[in-house]
This record gives sequence, structure tokens and C-alpha cells, in this order.
Amino acid sequence: MKVIEGIPVSPGIAIAEAFVLAPTHIWAPERPIAEGEVDRERERFETARQASIEELNRVYAEAEAEMGPEAAKIFLFHIGMLKDPALAGPIAEMIGERQVVAEYAVAAVLDQVAQRFRAKADSAFTTKDDDIRDLAERLIGHLTGQRRLALADLSRNTIVIAGDLTPSQTAGFDRQHVKGFATDVGGRTGHTAIVAAALGLPAVVGCEEVTDFARDGQTVILDGGRGRVILDPDEQTLADYTAQAETRRKFQISLAEGAAQPAVTRDGVHIEIVGNIEFPEEIGDVVTRGGEGVGLYRTEFLYLANDTEPTEEDHFEAYSRCVRLLEGRTLTVRTVDLGADKYTQSRTMVPERNPFLGLRSVRYALAHPEMLKLQVRAILRASTIGPVKIMFPLVTTIAELRHARLLLRDVMEDMDERGEPFDRHVPIGIMVEVPSAALMAEVFAAEVDFFSIGTNDLVQYTLAVDRTNERVAGLYQPAHPAVLKLIRNVTRAAKKYSLPVSCCGEAAGDPGYALLLLGLGLRTLSVTSGSIPRLKRFVREVTIPQCERVARKALTFDSAVQAAAFLRDQTRNMLPEAFFDPADER
Ligand code: PEP
Ligand code: MG
Repeated sequence: MKVIEGIPVSPGIAIAEAFVLAPTHIWAPERPIAEGEVDRERERFETARQASIEELNRVYAEAEAEMGPEAAKIFLFHIGMLKDPALAGPIAEMIGERQVVAEYAVAAVLDQVAQRFRAKADSAFTTKDDDIRDLAERLIGHLTGQRRLALADLSRNTIVIAGDLTPSQTAGFDRQHVKGFATDVGGRTGHTAIVAAALGLPAVVGCEEVTDFARDGQTVILDGGRGRVILDPDEQTLADYTAQAETRRKFQISLAEGAAQPAVTRDGVHIEIVGNIEFPEEIGDVVTRGGEGVGLYRTEFLYLANDTEPTEEDHFEAYSRCVRLLEGRTLTVRTVDLGADKYTQSRTMVPERNPFLGLRSVRYALAHPEMLKLQVRAILRASTIGPVKIMFPLVTTIAELRHARLLLRDVMEDMDERGEPFDRHVPIGIMVEVPSAALMAEVFAAEVDFFSIGTNDLVQYTLAVDRTNERVAGLYQPAHPAVLKLIRNVTRAAKKYSLPVSCCGEAAGDPGYALLLLGLGLRTLSVTSGSIPRLKRFVREVTIPQCERVARKALTFDSAVQAAAFLRDQTRNMLPEAFFDPADER
């Protein structure tokens, strides 16, 4: 038995046979052809291009049905590229001019395209290298007659083990038989991870060496919630996990049954559980899983899923759709949070050396005021349809908040002049996700309507740990005393100014951490839709004084490990069936 730890990106337990995909290399040597063969090569390319478009139309239709149109747009973009004469033309030309085989021309031209994208000045919204590689592999696969993946049609239940997977490979899986996947590389915010989560497919990425150890046909346990891959499990582990999967299944059913009921503590305090979304299509899941609104809409995905910058209409269309789908529940729109790990696409001519500390989030937006104003205008227009809040990410100084508010006021004045209606009382808040904002919370509290604590970034900036780097993942500790003290500082300031404060980091979905947050005074938690039913169920088991006692005690530890163990123990006592990991029971 071999246990490999990776980064959990999509929860769930899968037990099946391994299907190991050798790392893919685009191998297209420059082979010359005779002049008389040029037409034939061009025809081969044309046939491969058409076959790729047809294949992608199928992938798109399936992805759209399962993930919704927004997430599936990745494949529309691929189709658009293949139909674009600016791509097909140079390939056909190269075949004639250089007299080379089509495979080589495809690889060479797509490589140039990737380089051009990389160099595009100040475009945060161009495509990913991954997408280009995906296209090149698809075309070359058709040219060489190789099936890119046998994965579209399998006969047995399988866990895919791969060096890396592209989004379209992931979406193109035979969904009946592929039960999950694990990859050597990858981070939490890659498109592949997003696709996995949107499909509800258990997945672990960043395993570093899983392809070195896995063999075809071997039994594999994939624990997507804990980021664990177990190859050749011993009998006991297999039995534990089989039981655990069954408990999980039953627990999920019971959770689904209670999802619609409100989350009210045993002593009668209502806790608002809302959802985090990247795409409007996720609202369906938020609502059916009992979410009372959206606490974080990561609008940068409007940019990441497309090859062109979204227009005001694109923004408006997305926000108004969300508001309508929410039917009176509140939509919290975070203005674009591009930068750092969310430049999955090439951005500037000169890449930033230290993008996590670079021109990201609200800094980027303030440096591009027209972009921010366009977005804010669209949000304000949507505010006439239903309740909306605006939230600025990664605010570090009060000057940034004032600058952003000034731009917002400009937009409101413009709209007033044009007689365009909007909700002039739309609440304005900030994400508290850097220590400077947490420490200065009182200053911010006087100038905002709400706070939302973003623990994902707050932990990384407090502890100087890159949240996407698998090598320091062990140092990424949300229960670190320094983080807890910062959060307490925020909640104290919020209390003083009677401001609502929520948490929208991943940690809020962890029952133990949620307990602590409630004890510190939070009454709103915003989590991925999958965590909503469990959190609601959990809230119903506790009382506020109990949470306050837990929070007080948690803040006395000088080590994150102790604090985390304490929180886990407390929650396990309260809701034992929420813990599925046999290791936790020992
Ligand atoms: C956070 O930082 O906690 C957060 C919710 O924002 P994101 O994960 O999008 O950076
Ligand atoms: Mg953040």
C-alpha cells in the first residue's frame, strides 16, 4: 500500500482501478515533404481540423449540460480558435512554404500563437498556454490517428492517474466509468480543478509523483476531500474506506433532506449560510443545497473563461442572471480579483517576479479605473432587479478603499445624469484578507457597510505561505494563533461599529473552524455549495455560548496544531457522522 498526499480540489471518495495516462508530449518532428505532397498534407490538416471541431462540439454540448454554459465556454473558445482563419491560414501556408508535414506545421504555428499570447501587452484576459497545448494535442492526435484518450469510452470503473490533465480531457471523460482523478501537477485554482468541482468528480492534484508509483489495473482509493491517493490499499484500509463511502452516501442523503431548513442554533440564533460561486450556473446548486444567498461571486472568472475582455453587457448579463436566479436572496459581487494565482493566463509583457505581492485584485482594478467603472456600472444596473452588495478584494490601505469608493461615486453620478436607475443604498464592503486590513479593521469599519474575511489569503499573507505551493502546504494553517488573533481583531471592530461580518474563505466550510467563527461573533458563513448542507446541519447542533467557549479556548493555544486538534475534537463530539476518515476515528 502506498499513500500519496496531494491537494484536494474536489471532494468525494472513489474506489476503482487505476488508469495511468503517460505524460503527453507533443512530438511533431520537422519532416520534409515533396512539392507534390503539399495539397495532400493540407487536406490532412483540414480533415483533422474538421474532426477536432466536431469532437469539440460534442465535448461542449456535454460540458454545457453538466457544468452550465459559463464553465463550458472554455471549449467554445477552442472551437473559435479552430475556426479562426488566423490560425488555419498560417498552418496551411507553412505546409506549402516550408514543405513540411501537417503535424509539424500545427505544432510550430500553435507554439507561435502561445508566444504571442504570452507577450500580449497588458491583457489579463488572453488565453492559457494549457488551452493552446490542448488544441495542439487534439489536432495532432487526429493527424497521427492516435486516439488522444481511450478515456472517452471505458468498460470498467476507473480512477485516472495522470501527469497533468487539460480541462477538455477532464470534461471529455466517460462520466459513467471515470470515478475520479489524481495528477502529479496542478493547483487549486487551475481550470482542470474548476471543471472537476463543477462536475462533482472527486479529484486530487499536485501529487508530485503519483504517476511514478501507480500501475494500470491497481486498486486505488481517491479521497478528494482530504487530498489523498492510496495505491494498492491493504484490506483494512479498503474496508474502512468502503464503509466510509457508504456512511458518506447515507449522510449526504440525510443532509439533502435537511438542506432547506434554516440554520438556527439550539439557542435560537439564525446563522446565514450563503454560497461562493465562480459562475452564475452554480446558483442552482447553492439554492437547492439550502444557501440563503451568495456571499462571494468571484467575477474574475468572467475574464478567465473567455479569450476577450467582457463588455459591460457581458457583466450585466451575468449579474442580472444571478439576481434573477436568486429570487430575492442577496448577491454579493466581488469586483475582479485578477492577479497572483489567477493569472492562469499570460498578462503582461514583463511577468511580475512576485505576483502574489504584485499588481493584483483591487490594486489592478484601481490601476485600470475604466475596467472597474465598467464593472461597477453593470453591478449597479443589476441592483434594480434584486438585492446586490459590492465587495472590494485585497484592500490593504484606507486610501484604496476611498479611491474605489470615489470611482463608484463617479459611476453613480454618471448614471444619475443619464437617468439610469440603480439602488443608491447598495451596501459596500471589503474583503479582509491581508494582515494590514485586519489590524486596521476599526479604521475600515467606519467607512464600509460590511466585512468579509477571506481566510484563503489572510492565512497566506499572515504566515508567508504561498497557498498554491504544494511544498509548503503543511505550513498553511488557518488555526494559527496569529490568524485567529487577526480575525478576533476584525470581529471586535465590527462589533463596535455594528457591522455585519462574514467569512468566505475555504476554512468557513470546515465545521470546527465554523464553530470558532461563530464563537467570535460571525453570523454569516459563505462556502462552496457542497459544504452548505453539512454546515447547516452542524449549526443546528450547537449553541452560541458553546461556540464562544470553544473560541475562547482556541485562542489560548500557542500552536496551530493544538488549536486545530482541539477544534476537530470539539466538532467530532457534536456531530460524529460528519467525520468520514477512519484515521480520524483512531
Ligand atoms: C480568500 O482569499 O479567502 C477568498 C475567499 O478569495 P479567493 O479565494 O478568491 O482569493
Ligand atoms: Mg482572496
